[in-house]
Amino acid sequence: MSEIRVVTEKCTGCRLCLPACPYGAISMSGKKALISAACVFCGACVPVCRFDAIELFTEKPAWDEAPSSSGIWVFAEQVDGKVKPVVLELLGEARALARKKASKITAVWLGPDAPDQLQCLIAQGADEVIAVTDARLAERDELLYPQVLARLAVTYRPEIFLVGATGFGRSIAPRAASALDTGLTADCTRLDIDPQSGLLLQTRPAFGGNLLATILCRTRRPQMATVRPKVMQALPADYSRSGNVRMESMDLSGMACLCIKSTHVNREDGPGLDNAEVVVGIGCGIGSARQVKLYKHLAAALGAGLAASRAVVDLGWVDYSHQVGQTGITIAPKVYLAFGISGSVQHMAGLSENTHLVAVNKDKNAPIFAVADERVRADCNEVAAALLRQLGGDAARE
Ligand code: FAD
Repeated sequence: MSEIRVVTEKCTGCRLCLPACPYGAISMSGKKALISAACVFCGACVPVCRFDAIELFTEKPAWDEAPSSSGIWVFAEQVDGKVKPVVLELLGEARALARKKASKITAVWLGPDAPDQLQCLIAQGADEVIAVTDARLAERDELLYPQVLARLAVTYRPEIFLVGATGFGRSIAPRAASALDTGLTADCTRLDIDPQSGLLLQTRPAFGGNLLATILCRTRRPQMATVRPKVMQALPADYSRSGNVRMESMDLSGMACLCIKSTHVNREDGPGLDNAEVVVGIGCGIGSARQVKLYKHLAAALGAGLAASRAVVDLGWVDYSHQVGQTGITIAPKVYLAFGISGSVQHMAGLSENTHLVAVNKDKNAPIFAVADERVRADCNEVAAALLRQLGGDAARE
């Protein structure tokens, strides 16, 4: 915990500190400066006081006393023993960072057992794997996993810790960061190393996607970031690479955990949005929930996935798993057919720049036309129905 105080005997009431505070946390109480709870302990007021009347005590993180750190960690999220694709993307990105920082890359695997395929993490860029295996890790327990990760991090002191921004990753990363008393930048779209300080530059959209903010974690460790799937590039697997798999024994018995009574897997026909080469996207322009059927048939006829704007999800026309964008998922199909989608920055934030975008919209000024590769100015339901007919499908089929 940090602490700041005004030494009242020294404070002359000169008011110099008031404009120095970027958070407006200093006011005058009588003739003395008063620092409110809005203070974030940035220290900007300390040097402006000519009378040394402001004292800032910042607790040195125990971390700083560590003689060395163990480089870059990537959480190897798995489902039923199968590594999530985002892990490979993070390993590819970690290699690029490691080249600039001369760091070792460690993949961290938690699960009921350690399958042979852990070697694939090394082939994809890890220098070593730390594996904790325990029957209690069979369930993807959002309370237990962060505790195990935090305990490992305290022991091995990674400098950087990357987690995929999957649903599970988004739940466990903040819990682990909180346990480690460090910061976390969520949903980064770019990572780099500052050549001067060696700090991790964590860039993410801010203010509704209207600008990009680069965030640094200067004093706490590890520097933690989550990165969305499909944003970074995986490297081709190189099975000539070698590295250790270190089995870590840990007693999990005292750790709090969830009581998971049942698990439901939402399975839909057709390719998932994660790996579909073609995606049909629907926006409010389709008009009503009744029209969703047309686009489901079109997606099926094209072997495509079905995506939606947040507005469509909010209306309850399709469920959240279809939502693409800033608060949904990120996709990187070869082709995206957007029907009746305006093209808000928040929606487009979920689409890879390399995707060929075909937009169907009846408004010539729709923002999506400014970024589309092909523009069709027409009624989207008519276009979709015509396309489906050409593909031999039937919109009326249930
Ligand atoms: P609309 O904006 O209503 O656009 C409908 C479009 O359809 C219009 O362009 C219209 O011209 C066209 N149209 C109408 N009728 C027809 C027709 N018959 N034929 C052809 N075209 C037609 N949105 C997301 O999608 N994903 C997100 O993750 C997301 N996150 C957000 C996060 C935040 C913090 C905020 C503030 C917003 C977020 N949004 C997100 C919402 C976003 O700002 C937009 O409101 C939303 O994307 C609009 O959805 P839409 O394009 O379907 O609807």
